[in-house]
Amino acid sequence: MIITQKKPIEEVLALVEGAKTVALVGCNSCATACQTGGQPQIDELTKILEDAGKKVVATTICDYCCMNLGVKAKMKAINAANPDCVICMSCGDGVQCVAKNAGDKPVYPSNNTMYLGEAVRFGVWEESCRFCGDCVLGKTGGICPITQCAKSLMNGPCGGQKNGKCEVNPENPCAWIEIYKRLEATGEVEKITQVRESKGYGNFAYPRTISLRGKK
Ligand code: SF4
Ligand code: SF4
Repeated sequence: MIITQKKPIEEVLALVEGAKTVALVGCNSCATACQTGGQPQIDELTKILEDAGKKVVATTICDYCCMNLGVKAKMKAINAANPDCVICMSCGDGVQCVAKNAGDKPVYPSNNTMYLGEAVRFGVWEESCRFCGDCVLGKTGGICPITQCAKSLMNGPCGGQKNGKCEVNPENPCAWIEIYKRLEATGEVEKITQVRESKGYGNFAYPRTISLRGKK
């Protein structure tokens, strides 16, 4: 899931400084799970905005703020309320999708979009993937060296680990020691010596589009 964190409230209030009326759009998927864009957070932000002298004229929650058709439908009521601006309480993807459907209204984010992560338990999310577009997990024991190694090293450890902990952030295990242990456990330890090509990040031309319908 996409992990989001609330922006400092002063930052959100600064974004809506010139607005008298505001509409709020929450997201019923990742942002609800992250407690950054569900109904409780909409209620909380409504109160903060009204205490700051703003009028919240409409609120809605999209099932997924990143799915255009659902957003388009939900935005009809928001646009009909004619707010001075819209605050979208999802990840940056959702904010952009909401903005496309908000006519001439400015759309502001209430969250910072952090990473693609795993919900390891309630309220705890660990970063797990950086969308590199060329997954190497099949060669690294299911542990991502791009994400789990602080230096994103592709071919083994830097040598700085201490007692199995990363020299950059000693709270984390050294990813490459974990990769070695996992490959040993799965009977694939020979993979540790295979040379993995450096990531061809230069091959990407952003923004990318993936379509199952052929060319755009
Ligand atoms: S190698 Fe890592 S960053 Fe790349 S797709 Fe796989 S998990 Fe994601
Ligand atoms: S100590 Fe391990 S995890 Fe940390 S930067 Fe070096 S190789 Fe990567």
